[in-house]
Amino acid sequence: MQENAVAQSEPLESADPAPTEQVKFETLELDASVQRGIDALGFEFCSPIQGQILPHTLAGNDAIGKAQTGTGKTAAFLITIFNDLLNHPVEGERYLGEPRAVIIAPTRELVMQIAADATELGRFTGLKTVTLIGGADYQKQLSKVNQAPVDLIVATPGRLIDFMERRDLALDRVETIVLDEADRMLDMGFIPQVKRIVRATPRKEDRQTLLFSATFTQDIMNLARQWTFEPITVEIEPERVATASVDQRVYLVSSRERFPVLMDLLNDPDVESVIIFANRRDQVRRLYEKLRKEGVQCGMLSGEITQAKRTKTLENFKSGRSKVMVATDVAGRGIHVEGISHVVNYNLPEDPEDYVHRIGRTGRAGATGVSISFASEDDAFLLPDIEALLGHSLACMAPPAPAAKP
Ligand code: AMP
Repeated sequence: MQENAVAQSEPLESADPAPTEQVKFETLELDASVQRGIDALGFEFCSPIQGQILPHTLAGNDAIGKAQTGTGKTAAFLITIFNDLLNHPVEGERYLGEPRAVIIAPTRELVMQIAADATELGRFTGLKTVTLIGGADYQKQLSKVNQAPVDLIVATPGRLIDFMERRDLALDRVETIVLDEADRMLDMGFIPQVKRIVRATPRKEDRQTLLFSATFTQDIMNLARQWTFEPITVEIEPERVATASVDQRVYLVSSRERFPVLMDLLNDPDVESVIIFANRRDQVRRLYEKLRKEGVQCGMLSGEITQAKRTKTLENFKSGRSKVMVATDVAGRGIHVEGISHVVNYNLPEDPEDYVHRIGRTGRAGATGVSISFASEDDAFLLPDIEALLGHSLACMAPPAPAAKP
């Protein structure tokens, strides 16, 4: 077997990229309609992961990417899929319910975000994408599947299995499968379902498999090895992504000061749009209720909120109708909103990787952002592990004195 190529990459430093590392999309000789979608989004240069991975994946090779949100990985796999589907049109008849590409992601939010990106990026391609998520109307999704042959399915594992079990979808014609946030799927217990899905697609030698994960644990690497065929591996180091464009501060507060310090922060005119992370659902709910009581227009995203409500909350946040969102880590992962000025860690996350994910909600795509983490007597012990992952220490300070009230 051929030795796998390991490409180490430089971080996404869109604020100040070194010109020598930049790959222009035009040099990739993409299908014209794909290039048009990229142009319309205003992307000129590949992000590091795109520059590293696209030359291989566009040639049909498998890839394993260690990258989190904010690196441009979504566009990397979407461009690969669209370009491949357009370059290899199906000869002969197409049937309903036989997608040519499948993307699986762990949360409904993430699936919706990927589908939204697919709509944007693919808007000149004429390819048809259908989104399948749990907690939403099956029949509605089925009627979309049955309207016309579908090119791309973006789905959460459970709902895709429902479609397979009812024989509303068959995956034996799948040419490319993308497994996004594989580590999160593992954490959430989805691997048995993902295995069933992968098994329903053609053999790995006969399909293209792209696997993305923010972390490369042994378990993930084992799955990646099982599912991919002679993959190339690309790693974008999380700390480089995080530090590239986020001003990270730690406020030393006592437990009782957390809420008043948060309120002061929300009153700061520089805080245009903020996501506040707490560790557990009940903490998120309590904080949300406290903020509402104080008259703060805010939304809440956590696993206990219905899908319809989550969608509405996210829309309000995206449109700027509410500038504050309180979220758990799992719910917050799929949030890709431009222009989030601040991320607040109301509690420090227990898993240092979650810290990186959280602060990655800001400072996206060339913008700079601020992250403020509250550390108090009950969670400051988590800081050293976070600093170890980042590879540098964090600036700890007392919170600024509240502005004098008129
Ligand atoms: P992702 O890592 O997929 O969450 O993408 C991060 C953000 O970067 C998204 O908002 C994309 O729209 C944006 N993006 C992706 N690729 C590029 C690019 N080549 N140039 C500028 N922005 C990009």
